[in-house]
Amino acid sequence: MSDKPKPTGPIPAGFEARDGALLIGTRTADEWVEQTGRTPLFLYSQALLERRMAELRAAMPERLRINYAIKANSFEPVLKLMATLVDGLDIASGGELALVQQAGIDTARVSFAGPGKRDSELEAAIAAGVTLNLESEGEAARALAIAERLGVTPRLAIRVNPDFELKGSGMKMGGGAKPFGVDAERVPALAREVIAAGAEWRGLHIFTGSQALDAEALVETQGNVLDLADRIAREAEIAMPKLNMGGGFGIPYFHGDQPLDIVRVGEALAERFAALPASLAEAELYIELGRYLVGEAGVYLTRIVDRKVSHGETYLVTDGGLHHQLAASGNFGTVVRRNYPVALAAQLDAPPAEIASVVGCLCTPLDRLADRAALPRAQVGDLVAVFCAGAYGASASPSAFLGQGPAAELLV
Ligand SMILES: *Cc1c(COP(=O)(O)O)cnc(C)c1O
Repeated sequence: MSDKPKPTGPIPAGFEARDGALLIGTRTADEWVEQTGRTPLFLYSQALLERRMAELRAAMPERLRINYAIKANSFEPVLKLMATLVDGLDIASGGELALVQQAGIDTARVSFAGPGKRDSELEAAIAAGVTLNLESEGEAARALAIAERLGVTPRLAIRVNPDFELKGSGMKMGGGAKPFGVDAERVPALAREVIAAGAEWRGLHIFTGSQALDAEALVETQGNVLDLADRIAREAEIAMPKLNMGGGFGIPYFHGDQPLDIVRVGEALAERFAALPASLAEAELYIELGRYLVGEAGVYLTRIVDRKVSHGETYLVTDGGLHHQLAASGNFGTVVRRNYPVALAAQLDAPPAEIASVVGCLCTPLDRLADRAALPRAQVGDLVAVFCAGAYGASASPSAFLGQGPAAELLV
């Protein structure tokens, strides 16, 4: 047994302590749990969501429009709040379209990307005036046929599979063979076809990757995206009313991660925008972000049910787990498992007193929320806080696994 703890990630800015206890808005974590009446609980901070958007707007050129990719967090109160803060929303399924409609959000502000859109999803989106980011020639033909049957002019954009990727991103979505988008060299022909068929042409969508913390890599990729859009527009001899440049802004999850320098990204974009080619001069220019907007504003609270020792290792067994926090368990697209930021909610600034692993209640060794973390001494009944829980927590975890069911969620 090694005596060294494994580091945990950095607690995001904006979380403070009151008498040592984690404070979210006006109350401590324990008070919010008491009010909700159950654990586990996802808490999302409205103040932090608003602050993040305000800082981002301040750093980006005024011309840039910002979309929210709702798959990061589609909890209705969060969705409704985000709709008031951003310029548009990106969805990836008919189910997400229904969430947007239930929330009363204007569907003309929505665009829909994602491979494998069923006919029923295309129909619902076209009828609602959603912009479709077409993923293939086949999908374009189906969309046009459905629109004709409905007697509606469809709003169509083409998602491009670019021939470059976002370097250093956690998830690469471009470069080489991909199930996403249309290969760049076939886009001009398809664009002309879609326009000739009478669609309302909504330009291009070029998404290259996710979770990048390196500003220089983002700047380079955004430059490549603008160049590619210009090339396609000139080759196809078409107008470019809109360009969705993708996103990829990452957040620090792990020890040693440095926050993305958005000021640098914004300055580089402003320079590019000041010297746009004629083909893009009139374009509405968008980025689309999920985790960057909501990830750090959320915390997951789970209660310690048991405290046990096995072969000298201490385990804090909680009532939560990977069924709500798949990513924190290291099972959502990570190669090497590392610890998210975690803390004992009632002892936020207490010094560590022991090394303990925080595990979930599922009967699988995968269910680990923190591996050998240095923590203050914890007791049964204490709350563990897992940070960076605002994105891809509740929306991306198998909550039905082992009959556990979803966690409570609260926007405060
Ligand atoms: C998932 C996704 C996003 C959001 O990614 P984040 O890493 O959460 O910012 C944006 N656009 C597309 C096309 C996506 O698939």
